Amino acid sequence: MLEKFYSSIRDVPDFPKPGILFKDITPLLLDIDLFRSAVERIAEPFRGQNVDKVLGIESRGFILGMPVAMELGAGFVPARKEGKLPWERMRVEYELEYGTDALEIHADGIRKGERTLIVDDVLATGGTAAAASQAVREAGGELLGAAFLIELEMLNGRARLNSGGQLFSLLKYPRE
Ligand code: AMP
Repeated sequence: MLEKFYSSIRDVPDFPKPGILFKDITPLLLDIDLFRSAVERIAEPFRGQNVDKVLGIESRGFILGMPVAMELGAGFVPARKEGKLPWERMRVEYELEYGTDALEIHADGIRKGERTLIVDDVLATGGTAAAASQAVREAGGELLGAAFLIELEMLNGRARLNSGGQLFSLLKYPRE
């Protein structure tokens, strides 16, 4: 079964810039039964853990995070790039290879003590998910962990997120 998921991820070399092997999840989205099954598997480790909120990271974290939130009976909080959210915001800056970037969530998105799960498509260096974790903590939420469709193990994102609760990824590269 995992084989079917792996076959639904398209490798696109040198996108968005030379040297990056982009993991394109859109073929998975075309097969709705397979996608539903991926969502169920991503939600599985967090069932029965009273998840209050799923925080999905722009933009493919929205596609995966929303159905995971529905599976878990949790609310959904979008974490967006700077300047996109209309209401009062909390902002977290994080380092990129060159320069910095920022994520924002609505200030009323996560309330004190709410058990929050972060969801995104790909865990690479972990910088983005670490910033999302910081936003959860600053909002006073309880960080339950993070779930990804894909983990690029050679980039050690897992180590960077170490203090951030449970970490689940459905597909791992390089493949065992
Ligand atoms: P990072 O902060 O390095 O863990 O990067 C994670 C973010 O960048 C996620 O939101 C991913 O969607 C995106 N990303 C990083 N590397 C890739 C990749 N090789 N293929 C697709 N998306 C990626």
